[in-house]
Amino acid sequence: MEPAIRAEGVHKAFSSVVAVDGLDLRVERGEIFGFLGPNGAGKTTTLRMIADLLRPDRGVLRVLGSSPHDARPRVGYLPEERGLYRDLGVMECLVYFAQLRGVSRWVAARRAGALLERLGLADRARAPVRELSRGLQQKAQIAATLMHEPELVIFDEPFQGLDPVNVEVVRRLIQDLAGEGRTVVVCAHEMSLVESLCGRLAMIYRGRIVLTGELTAIRAQFSPDAFDVLPAPVAEHWPEVGSVEAIPGGSRLFLRTGASSSDLLRRLAASGMSVTEVSRVRLPLESIFLRVVGS
Ligand code: ATP
Repeated sequence: MEPAIRAEGVHKAFSSVVAVDGLDLRVERGEIFGFLGPNGAGKTTTLRMIADLLRPDRGVLRVLGSSPHDARPRVGYLPEERGLYRDLGVMECLVYFAQLRGVSRWVAARRAGALLERLGLADRARAPVRELSRGLQQKAQIAATLMHEPELVIFDEPFQGLDPVNVEVVRRLIQDLAGEGRTVVVCAHEMSLVESLCGRLAMIYRGRIVLTGELTAIRAQFSPDAFDVLPAPVAEHWPEVGSVEAIPGGSRLFLRTGASSSDLLRRLAASGMSVTEVSRVRLPLESIFLRVVGS
């Protein structure tokens, strides 16, 4: 089976502005994939091409094994900008959008009811969209994205305007979507959320993918060969340790070149020191992002 998304050498320019410049991307079916990059990197342009709202100038773009146009009925796209009808009631609006996608009114009403319940919006079902706060409108828009039960869901900034409780509601919803076998692409600036959701990711910078792969492998690749040890052992002269840095309540021990982590752990055990915590240092995604595209 072809992957959910396959892009090879995709290019898109707006007159003289090159937004996407030879982009290669592969998103497997059923995964939650993070799509990251600084402002203006080309994320939204890429997502809009996948959702068949823009056409690439050149390159290969396949979505769910078809052209983006043919795949469109099976794709849900949450755009960055809001697009609900402000004067319609929330439920009415969701049903209307689903009917545009060919869902019967009866099925749409049932799905809308379930989604509004799931998103904690059931008590606002009859309220006109314009009366909802920004965060609640965001949740209604997420519901609208899912009304036709898409196989591939593309979320451009799904967490914007949400309080921490609602962030968690949406985070769980995304996990459930993947649990149902759907593919989810999440484009978000909240690195810790991406980290908690995505198994694989890609970083785009100036229209090109500059980093892609498994999150755990990326974190291992960028992290120093070091362990945090609490409380601080007296390790300055151990042959396995190249340098020591103080951290709150303990020390960060950087391995000397050629020393292995098991050498260090054996040394720690043999030292007889009472150690309460040992953890391998893993850079947060935010630090990796800053290192890769921050400059
Ligand atoms: P952000 O995180 O700020 O939303 P982004 O990564 O989504 O950024 P894009 O919106 O894809 O970035 O924009 C990439 C580049 O293409 C930018 O230089 C932007 O100004 C330009 N661009 C995007 N859409 C258009 C358009 N319709 N007309 C002209 N230029 C555009």
